Amino acid sequence: MKIIFLGAPGAGKGTQAKKVAQKMNILHISTGDLLRQNVTNSTSLGRQAKDFMNKGALVPDELVTQMLIDRLSRPDIEKGFILDGYPRNLNQAKKLDEVLADKNRSIDKVIYLDASEPVIIQRITGRLVCRSCGANFHIKNMPPKKNMVCDHCGGELYQRSDDKEETVRKRLEVYRQEAACLIDYYSNTGRLIKIKADDEAEPVLKEIFAVI
Ligand code: AMP
Repeated sequence: MKIIFLGAPGAGKGTQAKKVAQKMNILHISTGDLLRQNVTNSTSLGRQAKDFMNKGALVPDELVTQMLIDRLSRPDIEKGFILDGYPRNLNQAKKLDEVLADKNRSIDKVIYLDASEPVIIQRITGRLVCRSCGANFHIKNMPPKKNMVCDHCGGELYQRSDDKEETVRKRLEVYRQEAACLIDYYSNTGRLIKIKADDEAEPVLKEIFAVI
């Protein structure tokens, strides 16, 4: 199964993709996570991507696409995957279809998580992420048992530098500019499934499983 999770930052793509991937025993490939690893390790890609990410802008297509092509060329993708954060625009969507077609593969389903702006802002500005295992928490909606410590692995929790309200608004603006084209692209090819995502994580997860 090859699935894309589409939706605004804060729609719940990462949280849901992790759970679905674990349950289905397929990979969770997040381009945001891959880029952040590159920034942390100060690779050439990370150094080129950092400023774009901090401003809430998209990293240039060539850089992100090459990173994704490298990831998709590893043999473990045969078990299936969920893409989270890619594609972000029509150019990336078309490129992805081409890359998969070269391998005689295609995307089976595109799950579009549709959340409203106030919910998104509230979710992102309260989000905490584990430095070690990447698990997500929320200051109010899903607080860790111990202050700033991951329930799963004991790692340190932090707020992403691009999760501050000002940067979030910029990220949403960027998302809105590109989203309509992407949604049309996947709905015209009969692959789009829209799910309302304002609700808590559990009921939304149930709906996702119902459609896949
Ligand atoms: P995310 O973790 O998906 O919210 O992504 C964090 C940031 O990484 C975004 O705001 C972009 O700067 C960058 N990024 C992630 N995925 C992509 C992509 N497919 N294309 C361009 N930039 C991306």
